[in-house]
Amino acid sequence: MSDLHLSTLAVHAGYEPEKQFGSVSQPIMLTTTFERENGVPREHIYTRTENPNRISLETKLAILEGGAEAIAFGSGQAAAYAVFQAVLEPGAHVLIPDDCYHGIRTLFAQVYQGWQINCEEVDMSEVSKVVDAIRPETKLIWIETPTNPKLKIFDIAGISKIAAQKGIPVACDNTWATPFFQRPFELGVEIVMHSTTKYFGGHSDILGGAVILKEKGPLGARIRAVQGTGGGVPSPFDCWLLNRSLATYPLRMPVHSSNAFTLAQFLDQQAAIERVYYPGLATHPNHEIAKAQMRGGFGGMLSIEVKGGKEKAVQLAENLQIFTHATSLGGVESLIEHRRTAEGLNPRSPENLLRVSVGIEFIGDLVADFEQALARL
Ligand code: PLP
Repeated sequence: MSDLHLSTLAVHAGYEPEKQFGSVSQPIMLTTTFERENGVPREHIYTRTENPNRISLETKLAILEGGAEAIAFGSGQAAAYAVFQAVLEPGAHVLIPDDCYHGIRTLFAQVYQGWQINCEEVDMSEVSKVVDAIRPETKLIWIETPTNPKLKIFDIAGISKIAAQKGIPVACDNTWATPFFQRPFELGVEIVMHSTTKYFGGHSDILGGAVILKEKGPLGARIRAVQGTGGGVPSPFDCWLLNRSLATYPLRMPVHSSNAFTLAQFLDQQAAIERVYYPGLATHPNHEIAKAQMRGGFGGMLSIEVKGGKEKAVQLAENLQIFTHATSLGGVESLIEHRRTAEGLNPRSPENLLRVSVGIEFIGDLVADFEQALARL
């Protein structure tokens, strides 16, 4: 099946009409437990450890990302946490990007406080900085590219090559690019993580996460144990809804990306905008790497810095009528947010930074909305 196009896989992978009624849409198995036959479990035992809707979802996710196995969680954070649980140990050193989803930093600062995990932030835009930061006790390199919120781009193949020489696993948070634009397994990473809350879900109505492994093996088994025994699993309904959303994911992505590109180019020309962060712009410092490792587009996310500080930035966000001022991303509707406000503990984003999740509305309307919002600044 994996020879088929992503669009076909997104519709069909993981489910065939069930035999009893021939239901074309997968029934939702709203059960916590499964009957045994003469005391012996049949296919399934208990929904925390497995459920038909979750198996379908995991099958589809593994195929879409080009991995051997996917393990689904109740949120992106639960998925990331499972990787850390499975790979790290007291005394371990882990490298994370100096710009990345703030929740990852917060996990190490809050949840792992006292666990003797040494988390070091590195500007991974230069592979040599990653090389310099590696120590004998480095147990994991965590990449996120493009990064949240400054859309830094890291050379996945370059970092993976160095890591492989040292025997260090590399995990890549592929939430923003998704396999539609970026295929980390083909660039050498072993672990891909997703917040499926975002583009895979696509409608701002479902929270989820996944870890996908390039190969089946002991690492996958450890992450599977964190899933089943740790229990941070998605419900059968969440799995069903995500499976449904995935069918239209390959249709949505090119629209997100072309809308974002056009909007980035427009914003780049505006006197009130100090800086545009979008890897598709030739002026982006890592544009060449982005062009080499992303295919068919640069994704639907961009950030801007507004002249005049926080006040003007918030006013711009409020002036917009189609863009909703809210956190999160990857849904069909365009969102904008004053990022620093959402970053909780130790915020890093500049006061004048707005993060934009460009939806799939008509691009002319989105540009016109910015035109009127900028005119009223
Ligand atoms: N990774 C990235 C890149 C994100 O943008 C987010 C959330 O915004 C997460 C992980 C966390 O995902 P979740 O909110 O599903 O836990």
